[in-house]
Amino acid sequence: MGKPVADEILGRVRGLVAQSAARGRRPPHLAVVYVGDDPASAVYIRQKQRAAAKVGIETNLQHLPATVGIGDLLAIIDRLNGDPGVDAILVQMPLPAGLDPDLVLERVRADKDADGLHPLNLGRLLAGGRGPRPCTPAGVMALLAHYGQETAGRRALVIGRSRLVGWPVAILLTQAQATVTVAHSRTRDLPRLLAEAEIVVAAAGHPGLVEARHVALGAVVVDVGITRTEEGLRGDVDPGVAERAAALSPVPGGVGPLTVAMLLNNTWEAYSRAL
Ligand code: NAD
Repeated sequence: MGKPVADEILGRVRGLVAQSAARGRRPPHLAVVYVGDDPASAVYIRQKQRAAAKVGIETNLQHLPATVGIGDLLAIIDRLNGDPGVDAILVQMPLPAGLDPDLVLERVRADKDADGLHPLNLGRLLAGGRGPRPCTPAGVMALLAHYGQETAGRRALVIGRSRLVGWPVAILLTQAQATVTVAHSRTRDLPRLLAEAEIVVAAAGHPGLVEARHVALGAVVVDVGITRTEEGLRGDVDPGVAERAAALSPVPGGVGPLTVAMLLNNTWEAYSRAL
């Protein structure tokens, strides 16, 4: 379900990169900073590098040990910030305990911010201005738009309020004229909120949190959650929801491919802005 939408975005980026190469320009370059050995991060980075290669974007992986000091990590980011051959920088999250993600995300130059998570870019998002959008939230919106799901005037429930997913999704849905409720770990009576929601975006990281019996008939449900369990990858939404919902994005194969596509779209945008 997510793949055709991602393929469309990647096809557009591939075309733009090819046009730029035909004019004799160097390819866009994405630097990836990976600290530690989180196995899920390693999988995500491989997916991102493979997709980048397919559209003609170069990547360069800086793999640092979990023991790296914050000073050394910031010095590497400073070097990438100052390198005119690097257009965009992605610091793979989560960072090992002890490394402050806010400090690291703020150090990446805002105009090289591939993930759209720099405070300046989050401010631009809030202001409705230009700038890279956080990848997964932008992917959620692209999915809804591609499948013709109306947002204007509809009641949307976003489950999760992280800076990475829930909060930006809530902002983007509000800008798309939905009436948005944000649920989080302290929310009381999630079933009541679900019963009223016409659009549900679940991003809590709790498998099965959204149960079929609580979802309104005909709701549109986007499952962002990814949790590794013994039975494989699980979303936040019980698969039985498909029987009540008008549409349900699967895990895997829903939002995931779009996150990668949006990252490469942001890389292209950073490159073309710098031309
Ligand atoms: P996070 O842990 O930073 O945030 C989780 C949010 O969910 C918090 O705001 C918390 O308040 C809320 N929450 C937790 N338990 C809840 C409950 N019982 N009821 C309501 N709200 C609850 O996680 P994150 O980085 O925002 O990621 C969320 C999920 O999305 C994770 O499973 C993550 O793996 C997945 N994810 C998927 C993609 C993708 O490309 N598909 C990208 C990023 C994150």
